[in-house]
Amino acid sequence: MDMHGARGFRRGGRGFLSEEEKANRPKITVDLLKRIGSYLLPYWKQMVFVLLAIIVSSIFGILPSILTGRIIDDGLYGRNLNVLVILILASLGVTILSNLIGVLQNYLNTWIAQHISFDMRNKMFAHLQSMSHRFFTSNKQGDIITRMTSDISGVQRVVTNTLTSIISNVITLVVALIAMYRMNWLLATVAIVIVPLFTIPTRRVGKTRWKLTRQSQECNDEINGILNETLSVSGQLLVKLFTNEKYEYEKYEKANQRMVKLNIKESLVGRWFGVVINTLTTIGPMLIYFVGGLLMIKYDRDLTVGDISVMVALLSRMYMPVNMLLNIQVEVTRSMALFTRIFEYFDMPVEIKNSPDAITPSSVKGTLKFDNVHFHYIKEKPVLKGISFELKEGKSIAIVGPSGAGKSTIINLIPRIYDVVDGQILLDGMDIRKLDLSFLRKNVGMVTQDTYLFNGTIRDNLLYAKFDATEDEIKKACIKANIHEFIMAQPEGYDTIVGNRGLKLSGGEKQRLSIARVILKDPAILIFDEATSSLDSISENLIQEAIEPLIKQRTSIVIAHRLSTIMAVDEILVISDGHVVEKGTHNELVSRGGIYSELYETQFRRALDDYEQRRNSGGEELDTENRGFGVFDFPSPDLV
Ligand code: ATP
Repeated sequence: MDMHGARGFRRGGRGFLSEEEKANRPKITVDLLKRIGSYLLPYWKQMVFVLLAIIVSSIFGILPSILTGRIIDDGLYGRNLNVLVILILASLGVTILSNLIGVLQNYLNTWIAQHISFDMRNKMFAHLQSMSHRFFTSNKQGDIITRMTSDISGVQRVVTNTLTSIISNVITLVVALIAMYRMNWLLATVAIVIVPLFTIPTRRVGKTRWKLTRQSQECNDEINGILNETLSVSGQLLVKLFTNEKYEYEKYEKANQRMVKLNIKESLVGRWFGVVINTLTTIGPMLIYFVGGLLMIKYDRDLTVGDISVMVALLSRMYMPVNMLLNIQVEVTRSMALFTRIFEYFDMPVEIKNSPDAITPSSVKGTLKFDNVHFHYIKEKPVLKGISFELKEGKSIAIVGPSGAGKSTIINLIPRIYDVVDGQILLDGMDIRKLDLSFLRKNVGMVTQDTYLFNGTIRDNLLYAKFDATEDEIKKACIKANIHEFIMAQPEGYDTIVGNRGLKLSGGEKQRLSIARVILKDPAILIFDEATSSLDSISENLIQEAIEPLIKQRTSIVIAHRLSTIMAVDEILVISDGHVVEKGTHNELVSRGGIYSELYETQFRRALDDYEQRRNSGGEELDTENRGFGVFDFPSPDLV
């Protein structure tokens, strides 16, 4: 049984397009090819070398098969030891040479593929970094990462495998055919008829096998899904609480049973696949022996045993290239789909970008003005419907309002995480869209509820705000943020690892760290999104102590939930349903008797009364700064 043939067929087993791939077959246009070419072009010199190496190694690779004829006829039948030794050595020599050139070709190939994907990866990373926040909120993170990793690795595969194997297979086939026709046209024609005749039925069996493999993969995924869901901590709890053990067991058993059936079927078809390949690839040489023998014995006295052996050897070398070339359409479709997917990402427009005549002022005072700002995420659902307010340099504003009113949206518009749909936001009288984007973002500091920390040390996370900050600056920032003592209490101090996304720290510690980070950044405008809950009153106090002086020192906007924060600011904006419904100081708003005073009365008074009651019965100390009363929060819009 010939190994080349079998390997060729086996490789072909993966060579079918799935229904999904067929449905999404990309259009191969001149533009697409040109674009792919533009990535290959910088490496054209290396590619010429690869091409030469492939040609030489393919020819050298097939030479030993051709030399077999001479070994048999001239060496063995001719009983000539000298010729025999020379031919054997020559055969050995070209094989070694062919393999050495193969190594060189492989090196060059990998080098080119790695460099092309290096270029693509860098370009993609830079492009993704310039994409807007909207892109990241509306695309699955997994999809983005797949595009960056496996799709670009796919490009490497196309360059190292697909391209080279097409070229080397075509060359092998052409050289084999020329050699065969030169030897005996009749036998060569028989071989040409035999190869596809046997390749096509084998592909059919291969397709059945491939379908089964896919089915068993799907079944395996389903089983993994069940295991992941039911054997996870929360999944197990859910199963237990709903007493669905029996239901889950039956579901699992059913999938398991299907897997058993599929595996048996797959193994059987696999065996049949082997039988078909073995039989067909054995019949081929037999036919050549038969036709060749018939010719040699009856009609063509010049035809030698060596010639027939060469024919058989060459025939067996043709299976793999033929199979691969029959597969070429699949390979090309997949490669094009891969490039198309990558180019789709490259073509996504950058939503928030620097204006061509962006201005970088020498300094920022920090006066911020919202002028009739309208905004929506989706057209049908306006979120901000004409917000206007002014925040003077050094002053502070608290934004309060029900959940979903648009508070976070307002603050996200300031560093241009999104752009306004209508109206404008002015910084020191200048539309922020006219300012240099990095200048604007450098001057806006944000402490969000969902603090993001990288998995590194506390120091690394702080330095992210200012790479050249001195030890002293870091320490001062942490003291101001009320986190220095905590850090020093850790065995590793500032070198403590915060864990993935800062998971080793509590919510309050993370927020204080992120306050320290923003202090290091030292922006002209400070935005603080106060945590609604999940912090105990000690944590809350520490944050409050850090944040209040900051608010007083610079232009600040706070999405406020604590009464103490609200009292600390110069002005309060009450936002409801995308409008500013009330504006003023705490005392003004309370005495006005609007939404704010109503909520203050109902929520805060109640909290205070509860506290008084608890104090009278349990003797707790009253926190004079009204902290620890829970959040001062608005009910959802439908209740307002
Ligand atoms: P909360 O106090 O609960 O944080 P909020 O007042 O900050 O609420 P926003 O987060 O600004 O409210 O949201 C305003 C509206 O916009 C909500 O209806 C919300 O569902 C919607 N929204 C927020 N972010 C997006 C987004 N990325 N895509 C689509 N809609 C969004």
